[in-house]
Parts: sequence; C-alpha cells; structure tokens
Amino acid sequence: MPLYEYVCEDCRKDFTLLQPTDVDKSQTACPECGQKNVRHNFSTFAAKIEGGQSLSRKTPVTADDLPNKKVLNLPLPRLRSEL
Ligand SMILES: [Zn+2]
Repeated sequence: MPLYEYVCEDCRKDFTLLQPTDVDKSQTACPECGQKNVRHNFSTFAAKIEGGQSLSRKTPVTADDLPNKKVLNLPLPRLRSEL
C-alpha cells in the first residue's frame, strides 16, 4: 500500500496515511480534529523520484537503478542513545 500525505484545511495538521490505492480519499478524516476537510498532498519522496526520472520510464526505481549502489551499503549512523 502506498503512503499518502494529507494536510487538514481546518487545523493545518499534516499527516501521512497508509491507504489502498482505491480508497475514497474524500472520506479521509483528519486524525487531529476529525474533519474530512483534508487535502491530498503528493508525497515529497514520490515527487523527488518522479522529477529525477525520465517521463517515459514506467518501471519502479530499485537499488539497481542507482548510479552509486555503494551508498546503500554504508552503515547506518548510530543513534546517540546507543553509544
Ligand atoms: Zn484537522
């Protein structure tokens, strides 16, 4: 299921929901105030991918598409609380 970003028109809360693609987005309620006056935002992550790829490209981006795969192999930085 994809992530959808919303912003509430009533309380200005922005939130992200995991929803099926066929869900009725006009029935999505704000978790903060419960109103259904929410506006769907395109995910910033999805927008980045979209902008970086040729428009004719239909296949999803995978690790193999990255020019520098070594980036994925770098160890994750530890949280300070783990040190
Ligand atoms: Zn709200």
